[in-house]
Amino acid sequence: MPMQVPLLDLKLQYEHIREEIQKEINEVLDSQSFILGPKVEALEQKVASYLHVRQAIGCSSGTDALLLSLMAIGISAGDLVITTPYTFFATTGSVSRLGATPVFVDIDPSTYTIAPDLIEKKILGMKKDDRKRLRAIIPVHLYGQCVDMKSILKIARRYRLAVIEDAAQALGASSYGRKAGSMGDLGCFSFFPSKNLGGYGEGGMVAAKSKTLAEKIRMLRVHGSKKRYHHQIIGYNARMDAIQGAVLMVKFQYLDAWNEARRICAERYRELFLKSELAENEGTKKGFITLPSVAKGNYHIYHQFIIRAKKRNQLKKFLNENGIGCEIYYPIPLHLQECYKDLGYQKGAFPESEKAARETLALPIYPELCSEQQEYVVGKIREYYSP
Ligand SMILES: *Cc1c(COP(=O)(O)O)cnc(C)c1O
Repeated sequence: MPMQVPLLDLKLQYEHIREEIQKEINEVLDSQSFILGPKVEALEQKVASYLHVRQAIGCSSGTDALLLSLMAIGISAGDLVITTPYTFFATTGSVSRLGATPVFVDIDPSTYTIAPDLIEKKILGMKKDDRKRLRAIIPVHLYGQCVDMKSILKIARRYRLAVIEDAAQALGASSYGRKAGSMGDLGCFSFFPSKNLGGYGEGGMVAAKSKTLAEKIRMLRVHGSKKRYHHQIIGYNARMDAIQGAVLMVKFQYLDAWNEARRICAERYRELFLKSELAENEGTKKGFITLPSVAKGNYHIYHQFIIRAKKRNQLKKFLNENGIGCEIYYPIPLHLQECYKDLGYQKGAFPESEKAARETLALPIYPELCSEQQEYVVGKIREYYSP
């Protein structure tokens, strides 16, 4: 049997923290109190001080974090929201759920994140009526690396747009020392089990700089009420479970060390690829592989380690056959999704997003990944290109 290198291995992580986790979960079981409560509040305070924001509000998923944020800033039917087509569906699904419309802007091919200069170009090219309907920008810190937020915030100020960061993949990432999710008006996080900080079920969080927005999100999370059975606004049920709060409080202590370990894995991949002569450094075109590049000032936490690869689809198949987990994030950019047919985008509308969808591949990366496994992965990739 060949060596097995899964894309992600949560069982190894659990082995190290099993006792602490079970003790915390047992406390919740003994309390028989399962929704919100002291563990969730403790987590909210931890995350808020970690990000240096006034408040953090625990909720039921990253998707709900986005939805609550958009509701809190008053996004509704007819509004337009700028974002990237190269992201997980939740980024725009939440916009569309409110009757608003995503306006797509292509990515920077080196970082895979939305290109600020193209945002400004898009806004300037809009009809006056459309420009009036423009309300917000959602930058997505994809794969664990921050968007160029300085430029985003400048554009947002110039055109009076709200900024909601989709930091679902970036808890702990930073740009010039400022943490992902703490730079815009609101920051959204996901604790989906496979994220860098993953719960044991669904979970999410909103980081808020303003007390007013934070209070509104707290109300929206419980059917728009502050006092039970008194509903001032229309919200819904987006609460966090106590068990998730308990699990995440344990795991939060390790987050920085785990992110550091991912960075060490990423460096090891880089060295192995360069030594193998499959890749040259930082985006050169000659090699078979293009390594991920890190923008200036960024602390990348490698939620994913993404390469561009020649003959990508066959490479994926070859690696899978050899016991190596790898995945395509994301095979179809959002402007070409069936549910967005009515928006009228054609193939070729966002060439860099479409190219990334055709060429990129996520390789295994997680804190427990060992050097033998990484050598095996890179060795197999070399074998693929030089049979
Ligand atoms: C995971 C993710 C979400 C959604 O989070 P859920 O907790 O799965 O709802 C949103 N945006 C991005 C970029 C994500 O990766």
